[in-house]
Amino acid sequence: MDADRQALRTYDPDIFAEIAGEETRQVDGVEMIPSENYTYPEVLAALGSVLTNKYSEGYPGRRYYGGQEHTDAVERLARERACRLFGAEHANVQPLSGSPMNQAAYFAVMQPGDTVLAMDLSHGGHLTHGAPVSHMGKVFNFVRYKTAQGGAIDFDHVMKLAKQVRPKVVLAGYSSYPRDYDYTGFRKVADEVGALAMADIAHIGGLVAAGVMRNPFDAGFDIVTTTTHKTLRGPRGGLILCRKDLAKAIDASVFPGLQGGPHMNNVAGAAITFRKAAEPEFRAYAEQVLANAKALAATLLDEGVSLVTGGTDNHMMVIDAVASFGIDGRAAEEALDRIGIATNKQVIPDDPRPPLRPSGVRLGTPACTTRGMGEGEMRRLGGWMAQALRAPQDTALAERLRGEVRALCRGFPVPGVAHA
Ligand code: PLP
Repeated sequence: MDADRQALRTYDPDIFAEIAGEETRQVDGVEMIPSENYTYPEVLAALGSVLTNKYSEGYPGRRYYGGQEHTDAVERLARERACRLFGAEHANVQPLSGSPMNQAAYFAVMQPGDTVLAMDLSHGGHLTHGAPVSHMGKVFNFVRYKTAQGGAIDFDHVMKLAKQVRPKVVLAGYSSYPRDYDYTGFRKVADEVGALAMADIAHIGGLVAAGVMRNPFDAGFDIVTTTTHKTLRGPRGGLILCRKDLAKAIDASVFPGLQGGPHMNNVAGAAITFRKAAEPEFRAYAEQVLANAKALAATLLDEGVSLVTGGTDNHMMVIDAVASFGIDGRAAEEALDRIGIATNKQVIPDDPRPPLRPSGVRLGTPACTTRGMGEGEMRRLGGWMAQALRAPQDTALAERLRGEVRALCRGFPVPGVAHA
């Protein structure tokens, strides 16, 4: 054990024990929540560095505090690498996470009361895309499009809606939609009504960076936001990419509009992440994430499981637990937790059930692929999941499957966690 860990154990054994417990949980179980991943040891080192001590309000060369020679260099590297990775003209790397990132983007280009055309939440949109419980849903007027059969986007319908409501922003983005988008369709809608086209690729940022899913900039999008901690595999954070002529408004909206000092340890971690994402190994990783999702979805379909939209084109899928097993999403999440597979309950399109007891459960492959799992492991895990979900009350079965999952996990180390 290194000296810092030893010091923490001595000073605060309670917190130390919880961190150690979380390490064991991450090592012994399979992480299938599609928004989670294991970051790089190099990023963990940057997060735990002295950069966390530094205040850096402002931007490189224009700070409100002194002593910025190293933080300026870090932020410049992060911006340059982000622009190169995504083919963007400008990058703001300061958003503290995905929600402030979207808030800052909205306020950069809209006034309160302006209209955004966004995906219906139960069809895949995110809370920050105008959920009534979110502040953004109160400040802006969100009008929602829904998916059609098999998850397709009916662009005639979206166009009709756009002509009716004249949005300032047409937003393409999702948290629980298992397909890829045709961004040119959204661009056409935005052009028709004089709106900006914005994509929130928070979930698929890594897959877009690697070139295995479509890049909204290829369709001429104006603004693209992504988190850095999901498929990108970096520290928790947000990234706003945009055209050069929007740069000033975006930067002013992040700081001083919404935030104070950026978290420079996170920005350093993001810079490392963008460098990693440009390497050939990352492309191989992203391809494997998709291959694993396809293998898992095929296994579940063979088991007779009903998947929302009938399958997946990205890293995630949503099981209709009520239709497949006669249990709700919370019971399904708990049954999978008991065998060591972490997933999350999820509303499905036009779900008649409440958000805490929805019909679905969402799962994805970014984290287990980071550990090195492949299609063979997905087939085994899919089979175990189906068994557990068919008999959620069978504690003996759950115990046996928990043992299988733990044994499988032993062969796949978690980056950044020292193994006994
Ligand atoms: N946008 C989308 C599409 C997301 O899926 C998420 C998080 O799940 C966010 C924004 C918000 O990110 P955060 O949880 O980091 O605030």
